[in-house]
Amino acid sequence: MRTKLVAGNWKMHGNLAANLALLTRIKDAAAGFGSACAVCVPFPYLAQVQAVLSGSRVGWGAQNVSEHAQGAYTGEVSAAMLLEFSCRYVLVGHSERRALYGESDTLVAAKFAAARQAGLTPILCVGETLAEREAGITGPVVTRQLDAVIANSGVAALKSAVLAYEPVWAIGTGKTASPQQAQEVHALIRARVAGSDAQVARDVQILYGGSVKPGNARELFAMPDIDGGLIGGASLVAEDFLAICQAA
Ligand code: PEP
Repeated sequence: MRTKLVAGNWKMHGNLAANLALLTRIKDAAAGFGSACAVCVPFPYLAQVQAVLSGSRVGWGAQNVSEHAQGAYTGEVSAAMLLEFSCRYVLVGHSERRALYGESDTLVAAKFAAARQAGLTPILCVGETLAEREAGITGPVVTRQLDAVIANSGVAALKSAVLAYEPVWAIGTGKTASPQQAQEVHALIRARVAGSDAQVARDVQILYGGSVKPGNARELFAMPDIDGGLIGGASLVAEDFLAICQAA
């Protein structure tokens, strides 16, 4: 049976003092959680997160990783480096990386492979823009993004990965996909994976992300193919993030 996961994406937010307060609240509350939770933080804060959360029930990770193992790649961070800070997760293919930094399906697939090969659990983000939804091509877009990873790493790679459906039009906009809209795409993603391997499809966690708040989390997480959430803005507010974790 699949368990639920709630992962926070801090994006480029935080400072040492605020992080400490937030992490301490999450760590204390997580002792009583029935489901898993994690935070994906900016690189410079990984040492702090490791120091505060080690031994707790909260996992952590980064928001990006190089597709290369090492070398002359100024500004990049390798999967092996993330492991030195005991990261478990890394986001790959977040829509902000795809849209603002030109990450292609091919590059995302290479990052996914690098993360997995090093022993990290990639959280692969897929999702359509508003224009793509309005053009009726949500399914083909999400399938294309997923297929690029499956073609490169094989479907069995999803056994040690997490998927996240994040409609771009719902990220940071306050517009959440309705539980039915989200469920429809989650089911489509699971069916696509089932086309290659039914057992992997049954087991893989598919998170929903896009303006999840304490007020809508419970309804979203109650859908049969939604296995938790990837939380942006609300993950920076302890009460909100903890309420969302409780909903899971
Ligand atoms: C995200 O950045 O992954 C995200 C889902 O953001 P928000 O919750 O703020 O929409």
